[in-house]
Amino acid sequence: MTCRSCASAEQQPDLDEFSSGCMSCSGRALAVTGAHLESLALGAITAAYRGALEKIFGADRWRQGHELVKGWGEKLKGARRRAAATVPAP
Ligand SMILES: [Zn+2]
Repeated sequence: MTCRSCASAEQQPDLDEFSSGCMSCSGRALAVTGAHLESLALGAITAAYRGALEKIFGADRWRQGHELVKGWGEKLKGARRRAAATVPAP
């Protein structure tokens, strides 16, 4: 269910490479958008975020899409933490 872009993104979650038609890529793209970040900050699915999910994944699959977005969101967070931790000491 993943593509080559997603396989690369497992190592580098902020990879700017997406395959059209790949559900996982769509989730990864949405994970970095303002609507998702706003939902994260509020701890709720906002109308804007829900609208984006429905537009991308469809009214019957937006929950599945949301799970993908959450998964990539976690990977992104982990990658940013690792990046911050590997800044060389002066
Ligand atoms: Zn993909």
